Amino acid sequence: MKGSDVSTSTTCALTPSLSQNAGEQDSEFASLWRALDQLTDPEIPVVTLQEMGILRALRRGADGQVEVVITPTYSGCPAMEQIADDIVATLRREGVAGRVVTQLAPAWTTDWMTPEARDKLRAYGIAPPHVGGAAGAAVIQFASQSGAKNRPTVHCPQCGSANTTETSHFGSTACKALYRCLDCLEPFDHFKNI
Ligand SMILES: [Zn+2]
Repeated sequence: MKGSDVSTSTTCALTPSLSQNAGEQDSEFASLWRALDQLTDPEIPVVTLQEMGILRALRRGADGQVEVVITPTYSGCPAMEQIADDIVATLRREGVAGRVVTQLAPAWTTDWMTPEARDKLRAYGIAPPHVGGAAGAAVIQFASQSGAKNRPTVHCPQCGSANTTETSHFGSTACKALYRCLDCLEPFDHFKNI
């Protein structure tokens, strides 16, 4: 799975919005996009790979095979193997000769998650990462430099309370932290900003 393609991938600057990219490739890959759109994140089955920003692009390789470009949410994410298997199975089902190309640069960021993904996470009981942007990024950067103090507020996905506390920096997976709501007392996962 480690193709030489990975080294060339830094030249490919995709915007977080896949719709534009998908539009350009519509004629050739429309039905395949639709099929791949059905695939969900193995760790968070309510969001699709595209909504998570994991599914980056479809392109034609030098040998004429279709390449499905994915970027892991973080290096060593155990779900990536499952994701690659799901994509290969979808290609086969669609009768498409192709492969999965893992692109590590640019690195995945929680900013690539669509607003739909954030809403679905919240409905699923996971506090979504903070939306990027000038103010938010500054706060987060400041927080990471000064340790635990001034950490951005994480709202309880159950009751919306801001009265929450981090109980473990690593929740059910490495990309989540475990929190507890001090109002409704429910524990919940917070998808950390990357
Ligand atoms: Zn609560």
